[in-house]
Amino acid sequence: MLRTAEIRTELTAREDTHLLYWRSSLEFSLDCFICERTGRTTLFDVGAEQALCSGSRSGLKRHHAPARIAGFDTTSGRERLALRALVDFWWAPFTDSRDSGKAAAPTRHPWVRLHLASYCPVAKEAGTGSIQTNLVRPARITCEHCDLLLAVDREAPAVRLLG
Ligand SMILES: [Zn+2]
Ligand SMILES: [Zn+2]
Repeated sequence: MLRTAEIRTELTAREDTHLLYWRSSLEFSLDCFICERTGRTTLFDVGAEQALCSGSRSGLKRHHAPARIAGFDTTSGRERLALRALVDFWWAPFTDSRDSGKAAAPTRHPWVRLHLASYCPVAKEAGTGSIQTNLVRPARITCEHCDLLLAVDREAPAVRLLG
């Protein structure tokens, strides 16, 4: 079955000079019927026709996954930077081959990591960063070069199944 999940997040207190933006890749956990494991970190790139499941140590290793980013809308308004990503993934029921957990769509405790980039006008160098579901919040996003506060991350990304 084809499923679509929506991932939404918003940063506040965004400052202007470092041009903070979302990079076009993300990691999202899925219950993978190919390697029959729940909660697998899956790597996505905007524009790619497939994703990459990280697999598991004991079973199937990294493999292509029938999933892709169907939408990636970023909005930057006054002091905010928001992202809405749509992830399409093929899902089929199975029982986890190791812990006997039943597969769900989306996975029972969805986890997401989103990537950021910026440009430091002081150091004249690019910088990167990321936010993820399991962080102590509010979290401060700072420039790795000059330590300036670039934005504040107050809430974990929201994940919901659209269909
Ligand atoms: Zn897999
Ligand atoms: Zn800086």
